[in-house]
Amino acid sequence: MIYIGCHLSVANGYEAMGRTMLAFGGNTFAYFTRNPRGGRSREADPEDAGALNALLRREGFGPLVAHGSYTMNLCAANPQTRANGLDMLEKDLAVMELFPGNLYNFHPGAHVGQGAEAGVALIAEALNRVLTPEGSTTVLLETMAGKGSEVGASFEELREIIDRVERRERIGVCFDTCHTWDAGYDLAGDLDGVLTRFDRVIGLDRLRAVHFNDSKNERGSRKDRHEKLGRGALGLEAMKRVALHPALAGRPFILETPNDDAGYIEEIRLVREWLGGE
Ligand code: FE
Ligand code: FE
Ligand code: ZN
Repeated sequence: MIYIGCHLSVANGYEAMGRTMLAFGGNTFAYFTRNPRGGRSREADPEDAGALNALLRREGFGPLVAHGSYTMNLCAANPQTRANGLDMLEKDLAVMELFPGNLYNFHPGAHVGQGAEAGVALIAEALNRVLTPEGSTTVLLETMAGKGSEVGASFEELREIIDRVERRERIGVCFDTCHTWDAGYDLAGDLDGVLTRFDRVIGLDRLRAVHFNDSKNERGSRKDRHEKLGRGALGLEAMKRVALHPALAGRPFILETPNDDAGYIEEIRLVREWLGGE
């Protein structure tokens, strides 16, 4: 069993997202804590958050996977950009405490010419500044496609970040199937091999969420263009094997496929049909 859902807009509030996902037939969801391109966050309303928490419990939802802004680059070369990123992360994590015990994922960052090693060190340093023992949110590093100077396209790089974080109990990984494929991992031809490798390098217990996307491009393209399930280079059978893999059971699966509402409803239905056959 896995949880399945998609990205939703927080524009109408927190509880509204829960209701929308119920109507979509899913039992988890993701949302951008801020406008994905701009940096502004929505005013957090504790009463609305409480209503969502009650809905999640009542309906047996899996963990939510909030997504940090794309503009947050914790390893930017420009110190002001890094400081802005740290500020966003700190504020996002404070708001996340309205929903205790859920997940928050973000793109580790782009080192923009400083080198991956410097990037890894800066990202870990930022995490060490914001992760407190009181916080209940698990912060997930997303597996990246390796576009430009992105950090985190290899399991080894993610491991290096995790190794430098003091509060490792609060760190996990969000496994994006499109990104991992674009980074060169053969999810279609050797899923067991990829997951075994992940387990050896990072540990499957750290894999806490999946971004469930097909890819427009061939393996190793380092492009990061998502595709609808079964319409891309990974293909429907490969996506189905991922959804049913026992090593990924219990995780929230978030669709980030290029769809309108009807398309998401259909993909959620399809995944639930696969799960029904388990
Ligand atoms: Fe992402
Ligand atoms: Fe993703
Ligand atoms: Zn992507």
